[in-house]
Amino acid sequence: MNADTRREFRIAVLGGDGIGPEVTSAAVQVLQAVGKFQFSEYLVGGAALKATGEPLPAETLRGCLSANAILLGAVGSPEFDKNPPAKKPETALLQLRKACNAFANLRPAMLHDPLISASPLRADVVQGTDVFIVRELTGGLYFAEPRGFQGADAAFNTMRYSREEIRRIANIAFAAARKRRKKLHSIDKANVLETSQLWRKVVSEISADFPDVQLQHMYVDNCAMQLVSNPRQFDVILTENLFGDILSDEAAMLTGSIGMLPSASIGGSNGIYEPVHGSAPDIAGKGIANPLAAIASAALMLRYSFELERESTAIETAIAATLQQGFRTQDIYRGEGKLVSTGEMTAAVLRSL
Ligand code: NAD
Repeated sequence: MNADTRREFRIAVLGGDGIGPEVTSAAVQVLQAVGKFQFSEYLVGGAALKATGEPLPAETLRGCLSANAILLGAVGSPEFDKNPPAKKPETALLQLRKACNAFANLRPAMLHDPLISASPLRADVVQGTDVFIVRELTGGLYFAEPRGFQGADAAFNTMRYSREEIRRIANIAFAAARKRRKKLHSIDKANVLETSQLWRKVVSEISADFPDVQLQHMYVDNCAMQLVSNPRQFDVILTENLFGDILSDEAAMLTGSIGMLPSASIGGSNGIYEPVHGSAPDIAGKGIANPLAAIASAALMLRYSFELERESTAIETAIAATLQQGFRTQDIYRGEGKLVSTGEMTAAVLRSL
């Protein structure tokens, strides 16, 4: 396979902490097998804190902003848990998303048939689950000001959304639904929150531009319940930052393991592609992490940043074939198939390509 050689594809690789470097290295190998890309590695998270005192050093940020796309592993390590917020590894993610204006977080959660037994739900409920979550990523409770402590006994955050913030994320979700099964659930808490009432109003207005997409509003508590009772009803889920954070992890588990799920954070000039999982300190360095989420994130990069649809689909097909052949890392191993290491799983995907 040959990615378009006339175009330049510069990828900033931020391995990060724990299993991050192990899984990003797997994704880089797969990318090298489908095309010509230029990789530059940078420090982020705990690794960067140790080396420079900053979770997102200026050199890393410069490298990311001058690249065409960013491949990120994971950040976080228990040794920094007591650090103040500005000196925590996770702060790097928020800073990077903001700097890249990556306001749209896309998380496909699809259950591969061979992994049905790895899902905590009954096969008849979960089979065929294929949800695409579009989460607003740079607004709402995680970013809006004012925020802070009021002495030792009170603290507060602000939930704020502007019409423009809702409009731009809704447009991405409707466009995604149009390419899929044309169903969009917009999730809010409009019975209680003013931000949700504005959200509902703006999403309804935008739906007029997408008459072929069926829109349904749903409260977030109901959605949490419906995701485990009837996940197949969902196609695209659109929601704000905090609700999306929680619902996407819930949806992740339906598919068997958090080690399976990729994500793309787009909207600005360069997208950030990373597995949904964290740095998994409990298994770091053991060579047993599931690399499929990182590899699938690379496939999303090819689709959304480089418009290499053929190469992207080839990687996704290779992942499905590898699972079909019975290869399983320990997180998705349920006594059947072949238990393999990170390296063996990567090699199996490369063979399937
Ligand atoms: P985690 O996702 O790192 O791990 C949760 C569980 O899932 C662990 O048992 C882990 O072994 C397992 N797991 C995760 N990814 C796996 C993979 N690819 N293959 C096999 N098993 C896998 O979440 P956590 O334990 O809550 O957090 C650990 C650290 O990661 C914390 O410091 C947290 O802040 C950070 N974190 C970072 C990100 C990110 O970088 N995007 C996301 C979540 C958590």
